[in-house]
Amino acid sequence: MSFEPLVASIDLGTTSTRAILFNKLGQEVAKHQVEYSTSAQVGSRKDSPQIISSEGIAITVSDDLQVEVSEEPTLNFPKAGWVECRVESILANAIQCFAACLISLEKINITRDVPYKVTSIGVANMRETTIVWSQKTGKALYNGIVWSDTRTSAIVKRINAQYPAEKLESLRQINGLPISTYFSATKFQWLLENVPEVKDAYENGNGDLMFGTLDTWLIYNITSSKAFVTDVTNASRTAYMNLETIDYDDELLKFWNIDRKKIQLPKILSSSEVYGHFALPDLTSLGYTDLGLSKEAAEKLESVKGLPICGCLGDQSASLVGQLAVRKGSAKCTYGTGAFLLYNTGDQKLISRHGAVTTFGYWFPELDEKVDGKNSSKPQFALEGSIAVAGSCVQWLRDNLRLISKAQDVGPLASEVDNSGGVVFVPAFSGLFAPYWDSESRGTILGLTQYTSASHIARAALEGVCFQTRAILKAMINDAGASADFLDESSKITGQTPLSILAVDGGMSKSDEVMQIQSDILGPCVTVRRSPNAECTALGAAIAAGICSGLWTSLDDAVTQISKGNKLLVTKKDGSQVDNDFHATLSDDQRRVAWVLW
Ligand code: ADP
Repeated sequence: MSFEPLVASIDLGTTSTRAILFNKLGQEVAKHQVEYSTSAQVGSRKDSPQIISSEGIAITVSDDLQVEVSEEPTLNFPKAGWVECRVESILANAIQCFAACLISLEKINITRDVPYKVTSIGVANMRETTIVWSQKTGKALYNGIVWSDTRTSAIVKRINAQYPAEKLESLRQINGLPISTYFSATKFQWLLENVPEVKDAYENGNGDLMFGTLDTWLIYNITSSKAFVTDVTNASRTAYMNLETIDYDDELLKFWNIDRKKIQLPKILSSSEVYGHFALPDLTSLGYTDLGLSKEAAEKLESVKGLPICGCLGDQSASLVGQLAVRKGSAKCTYGTGAFLLYNTGDQKLISRHGAVTTFGYWFPELDEKVDGKNSSKPQFALEGSIAVAGSCVQWLRDNLRLISKAQDVGPLASEVDNSGGVVFVPAFSGLFAPYWDSESRGTILGLTQYTSASHIARAALEGVCFQTRAILKAMINDAGASADFLDESSKITGQTPLSILAVDGGMSKSDEVMQIQSDILGPCVTVRRSPNAECTALGAAIAAGICSGLWTSLDDAVTQISKGNKLLVTKKDGSQVDNDFHATLSDDQRRVAWVLW
């Protein structure tokens, strides 16, 4: 019987997990999202079914899937600066979301002549979040330490004091990363120094201890073979990987006290290959008593047993792909809890001299490129600039200052004034990431006068985020500009500067006002283009899996089909069609200054 193939994407985000089924045109056919419970919400019901069909029909999911928030919340903030996640709950949430999509798919299929069928699974995940578990029991020895957690700042300080700058620079030449609280290596170091169970398992466990990021944890638990793998984009954020060899590096491992006889590290693979086949995990053995699955949901999951899991990308790399920013010289910025700007440098590994991080964009070894049984396709690199606080600054205005009652109100409030009235807001709540890398700095508000209003403060906060984006772009363009080869190619594509379009997505990008502020701050050379697809991260993982499972014949094919399916024009409530581009609205004088700055 014929069917229309779909790819399932499971996206483990920082504040929620979602599963989405995509068709060949990159359109969402079904979707389910579960927001993580936090300490404040214990006892309430938190997941919000959001199922839509490709025809735009809302579908209600069985009530059985609505899970009571357990005694132990998914996200914990045990001390100032600490952020932990309960990894068993994230696993359960992922399963619940996938099951909900399969249930809704059955309902959608009733109305279709040619039914849909899921043919593969892709995974996207928040990166750097560090988990250690026992191979024997499968149980995590500590909560996952989330990327934004800053408990390791003392370790960072110690390392900076202990080693000469040249030594640290030589390590950066290998892994592309500065010493920071952000990457997994400092988080594992903290576990080793502070959690007796981890120290004991490391010293006396005969190699039973396993290390992984969330992609590894998920794939390990949902494959029948217990595949212990990671992809290049995730591995490049641990600080253990050599960007040249695409493998763990002895010098880096020694520096970070990793003895591979004492701890197992996941095998580093490409972003698009078969890692294993789907099987429902036994969550009770992990101490999670109630998965909250109805009989129907369990049956649905049983029916997709054996599906290949064949796509994996760290979330920011996934959104680079989902934004279709796959050409060298293209860039995207995702404004979620933090903001992450990736600048595609093709197969060229640029080690930044201006504070950006070198990371992998993606690696899709296409089968026909195999030479003598080996993949000849090259991994694609990106320069990355991360801003620790973006949407979370909006949340701070809402929850701590109570200037707004919901995030959407921040744009209109800031637009009541056309400048910040001299107020400068640096939202460095947990230090500054790129291009400054200062884990000690803290947020500040300057320039308050009797005249300052809530609107000025809101506007200054948004500008604080957008100015950091500009600082990062400038750093990257300086790096790219320093490479004659790069500039040649990208200037062919973009004309005037090495960058003419910044593709944007994520929660904060939904605000027209915020994107207009961003566009004004970037100046007239750069168009800010909001993606027509709200779920770029999940789409990127779907592309990784779909290329491997044959939904698309190549990356080019995926880009062509998805561009057809997601038009850049959006229809407003009054029926008019507008594009999603934002251009700087500057005076001639301001324009001249902007040109000089670029
Ligand atoms: P993540 O993937 O990090 O969980 P999202 O992409 O879902 O985050 O974005 C959520 C963030 O976006 C929140 O911090 C919220 O404050 C912010 N946000 C959501 N909607 C808006 C809006 N209309 N204007 C400004 N900020 C918004």
